[in-house]
Amino acid sequence: MAKKNIIPNPKTKFLLIKCIKCGNERKVFSASTTEIKCDCGQILVYPSASKAFIEAKVVKVLN
Ligand SMILES: [Zn+2]
Repeated sequence: MAKKNIIPNPKTKFLLIKCIKCGNERKVFSASTTEIKCDCGQILVYPSASKAFIEAKVVKVLN
């Protein structure tokens, strides 16, 4: 009996990131197409063609 595990592999996920400047945590979309700024003015996520660049500490990956 074959057991088949189907593991969904979404291209995008939510990340909990922490601002390297002020330590404020927030949830962001890993494939954000818009620039995300922290309240302190630090840019946390830079959008690019296929994925976002995270300029902050990734605390954890949320499902
Ligand atoms: Zn900040």
